[in-house]
Amino acid sequence: MRIIIPAVAERLRPEVIPAALAAAQEHDQPGMVEVWWIHPNNPYHYDTLLRGWWMVQMTFLLLEHDVVLERQAIAEFAQCPRPWCVSPYNDHTLLGCSRFRPEQLGAPGWLPSAWNQLDQAVYAWLGMRGHQPHIHPGLARHLH
Ligand SMILES: [Zn+2]
Repeated sequence: MRIIIPAVAERLRPEVIPAALAAAQEHDQPGMVEVWWIHPNNPYHYDTLLRGWWMVQMTFLLLEHDVVLERQAIAEFAQCPRPWCVSPYNDHTLLGCSRFRPEQLGAPGWLPSAWNQLDQAVYAWLGMRGHQPHIHPGLARHLH
């Protein structure tokens, strides 16, 4: 499973990558931990990148730059067969810790969105297609 961390350089918290690597090692097939830089002056850059990851048709976990995984997170997300899984943090069920199986969800069709509306656009599009997020509590923690 790809573990993708979209990050604005100055906002990437130092705990995020070590926690992702540690969680990946708890799984038989650790996969890849990838950091992608988000351009801070282009509000649509995150959307463009997300479409690109989606179109590769490989299962991926999206982990935002201030979210720390618990050690069991990758193994649990990898074992779950559901197409769209989320670990909520701070009462959010947004993109910050979401595992997608694009091959089961179809080609990306949400409306082009700035980074701060992308979560709503993806939720609305998946909802229209009859999908609901499968909730895995306690796999992620949000730093302030
Ligand atoms: Zn699940």
